[in-house]
Amino acid sequence: MSSNSEHKSPIPYGRQHITEEDIAAVVETLQSDYLTQGPKVAEFEQAFAKYVGAKYAVAVSNGTAALHLCTMALGVNAETRVITTPITFVASANCVRYCGGTVYFADIDPATALLDIEKVRALLQSKPKGYFHGLIPVDFAGNPVNLEAFRELADEYGLWIIEDAAHSPGGYFHDSQGNKQLCGNGQHADLSIFSFHPVKHIATGEGGMVTTNNEELYKKLLLYRTHGITRDAELLEENHGGWYMEMQELGYNYRIPDMLCALGLSQLARADAGLARRKGIARIYDEAFEDINEVKVLSTNGVVLGKTGDTGHAYHLYVIRIQDRKGLYDYLREHNILAQVHYIPSHTMPYYRQQGYRNGDFPVAEAYYSECLSLPMYPSLTDEEQQYVIEQVKKFVSHGK
Ligand SMILES: *Cc1c(COP(=O)(O)O)cnc(C)c1O
Repeated sequence: MSSNSEHKSPIPYGRQHITEEDIAAVVETLQSDYLTQGPKVAEFEQAFAKYVGAKYAVAVSNGTAALHLCTMALGVNAETRVITTPITFVASANCVRYCGGTVYFADIDPATALLDIEKVRALLQSKPKGYFHGLIPVDFAGNPVNLEAFRELADEYGLWIIEDAAHSPGGYFHDSQGNKQLCGNGQHADLSIFSFHPVKHIATGEGGMVTTNNEELYKKLLLYRTHGITRDAELLEENHGGWYMEMQELGYNYRIPDMLCALGLSQLARADAGLARRKGIARIYDEAFEDINEVKVLSTNGVVLGKTGDTGHAYHLYVIRIQDRKGLYDYLREHNILAQVHYIPSHTMPYYRQQGYRNGDFPVAEAYYSECLSLPMYPSLTDEEQQYVIEQVKKFVSHGK
């Protein structure tokens, strides 16, 4: 198909990539003895922990369950106050509410759309020490937050950190010593979470992971993942025999089936190739929009080594900012390009308005929202499809309005 003809099948903003190997891996588990808690769960956990450089990983039913297990393990309750960003999927904030805690938002940095550490600092300074308990920064779009800086601030105020790394497996930033710090490696955050929803880097359909270097938290995650039930002889208060188990805490069923972990393992084996492809796509967009004044791109937080060099950005999303966002969104739809908006600020959602938030509370996030649009970004996007997307954006900017 020539690049200036119309695309008959829609081009989404993101999608999964399933190979014959993936299918074979799932079929193999279907033919095995285990549909749910079989050997693939631990295998996936170990491979994932190694991939992000963390000590422990706990596989769960989805990324939201991963966040909920984190707030449970950290003991969030009705007295707990937690700060997060308004520009994220609502689950980043909701996990605090699941445990009855209070969500505070701080505004974003206009250049990166990441949680602005100076706004967080100002919020912390506005209350007595001990008022806040935790931070949930998000590696938005795949751009890693500087967790070393957040850790320093958190330590000053005695806060825990949950890193929402749903967008950033394989992403990294360089710390002040010049060391590469992989997202989810447990060096700075107490806990990190990932999602395996089909639009994310690694797809299992539904699925999620928590990573940590903290053994005590790790054990709590395992307990809460499966009803708070343990059979571990060392933990049991009594022991009546081989059948005996104890429900020691109120947990949930947040398990992920073996066959989905087999899919995850197969996907993880290709993660580096997918990431390289995402970076290549980003570079072509960057170059295409460089000279177009109407189209602004987000800055990367990580170190970019030259124009064609490496960056720690994991590019879950490729976000542009344009004044007539609605016009471009509609125009692209008419041309079969399903661009998407990430995100409607959480504090403007009716639920969070009921919690006392108002439009106007976080002006940088709201200005960002009025202009942002995520263009197609996924490893199986072809060069020719990408050129078509770029051409349509250019056409809209030059006359299509
Ligand atoms: C996708 C996502 C989640 C939730 O993951 P699910 O697997 O869909 O429950 C949490 N946070 C962010 C930033 C996400 O993008």
